Amino acid sequence: MEIRIAHLYPALLNIYADRGNIICLAKNCQWRGIDVVVDEFDLGKKPDWEAYDFFYLGGGQDRDQLLVCRDLAAMGSGLMEAVEAGAVLLAVCGGYQLLGEFYRTAAGETMEGVGLFRAYTVAGQRRCIGNVALESDMEGRRLTLAGFENHSGKTYLRDGQQPLGRVVAGFGNNAEDGTEGIIHKNAIGTYLHGPLLPKNALLTHHLLEKSLKHRYGPDAVLTAVEHALEDEALDVAVRLARR
Ligand code: GLN
Repeated sequence: MEIRIAHLYPALLNIYADRGNIICLAKNCQWRGIDVVVDEFDLGKKPDWEAYDFFYLGGGQDRDQLLVCRDLAAMGSGLMEAVEAGAVLLAVCGGYQLLGEFYRTAAGETMEGVGLFRAYTVAGQRRCIGNVALESDMEGRRLTLAGFENHSGKTYLRDGQQPLGRVVAGFGNNAEDGTEGIIHKNAIGTYLHGPLLPKNALLTHHLLEKSLKHRYGPDAVLTAVEHALEDEALDVAVRLARR
């Protein structure tokens, strides 16, 4: 079995060691005997959207986001179509903002988003920085997730959109409404850096199982692996957030 991952804009969207998420995905595939292909796509390189099961965008500074924003616009609707067809996507912070409808920076510049997520982002007066913990409902399964956030953008979900979770400690999407992130089909946007996946083993499992189903159909099941160490790391992260 094989899972194919497209890492979008690794040279520009790469703050807070978000590349660790890719390493975590690849390791989790290897531990289960699943072959994994990770291809990187920087500015001007357009993936064959149908060839991938998992798309990843990390976080970035406003300056770099602007370059990515223009490039994403030039790529057309392939990413949206792939997600609508069931591909998995994880977008963190700057990447999350760019997949929404727009991002208005503190300098008053508006970056048009892809509109994959029905949400928009406006720069706030203060940065939301710190550890964050949330309770998530992942298709009926309650998950506690934790990470680290650092953003000035405040993201607001349009009515009816499903957040990734409810903030237990920290700021989340906008420090106002208690939501964090967004889920649309198998696509997740979130402010959780850290990187997110190494200490959130159940989320990693969920995303990889969806990737497998994308490639092999709804009956594909991902073997469980032991994750006691990851759970310990999650406990520490939750405790830090609650402090
Ligand atoms: N530039 C964005 C903000 O500050 C995203 C930052 C990030 O990706 N950490 O809101």
